[in-house]
Amino acid sequence: MRILVVGAGQMGNGIAQVLAAKGHEVLLNDVDEARIRHGVDAIAKRLNRDVEKGKITEIERGRVLEHIDMRPHFADLEIDLAIEAATERLDLKRDLFRDLDRNTSPETILASNTSSISITVLGAVTSKPERVIGMHFMNPVPVMKLVEVIRGIATTDATFATVRDLALALDKTPVEVRDFPGFIANRILMPMINEAIYALYEGVASAEAIDTVMKLGMNHPMGPLTLADFIGLDTCLAIMNVLYDGFGDSKYRPCPLLKQYVAAGWHGKKSGRGFYDYTGGANGVPAPQLTGSR
Ligand code: NAD
Repeated sequence: MRILVVGAGQMGNGIAQVLAAKGHEVLLNDVDEARIRHGVDAIAKRLNRDVEKGKITEIERGRVLEHIDMRPHFADLEIDLAIEAATERLDLKRDLFRDLDRNTSPETILASNTSSISITVLGAVTSKPERVIGMHFMNPVPVMKLVEVIRGIATTDATFATVRDLALALDKTPVEVRDFPGFIANRILMPMINEAIYALYEGVASAEAIDTVMKLGMNHPMGPLTLADFIGLDTCLAIMNVLYDGFGDSKYRPCPLLKQYVAAGWHGKKSGRGFYDYTGGANGVPAPQLTGSR
């Protein structure tokens, strides 16, 4: 397939990589060339590691990169599918879906990797809501098996089948989900992360202690605060806001400490600082704890 990936951040570049690895022709888009280049560099770095570990050959590495074309503009797109993986903001995604609708043929399927935003709402700004769908990959995309496939209210069986079959062909496990706030993954995960941030905020325990409890006590591979840093605190806050607005239930109110970190530009691993400090490398060290305990 010929597939446009919109957004070359941590999710978009991961999606581009797994598509290219299976021989799809990938067009990678972002707001400017520097960001696209940054995304391609991240892919190249991961592929280099795979070559060093003997998982792929140098030739395979080259083939994946050859299948990715940098595409800063939408004009004259002849594509079978677009997968939008831009920042988790409704206004931004609505604009992108309008643009994608204008610049693609009536047959092109428009998918969003959104963590929580309504697929029905995104479909409604296009001329073909029956071809709009959620294709929610997990982070890191090359490693994680799950893809939530979200049907908007107008999504047809044919659109669903195409996206499900693509996920299967990428060696992923698709799971069908209906279009309600946070779908399944984030409706369950994000309130847990938010509660962990509340525990930190109230000074119940340190970030490391909270993570240790969930790792050793619940057998989670990673503590919730480390996971929040990996997801991106801006994304976590955006998802909590969608749950809060969508259900109108106070149990989803985002923790003030999460809001404060995001306001400070502390977006987690991708920005170098979140609940942990990543300025010295990919494995974070405890950051000075600023709690807002009452
Ligand atoms: P990110 O911040 O790493 O990347 C977002 C990218 O989108 C940036 O490179 C930004 O420049 C680009 N962008 C912003 N506006 C754009 C526009 N108008 N056109 C093109 N590109 C634009 O964020 P991310 O973690 O990759 O998240 C992207 C999407 O994937 C979000 O919807 C998020 O909710 C979802 N998601 C994230 C995770 C996760 O664990 N981080 C998991 C699943 C889904």
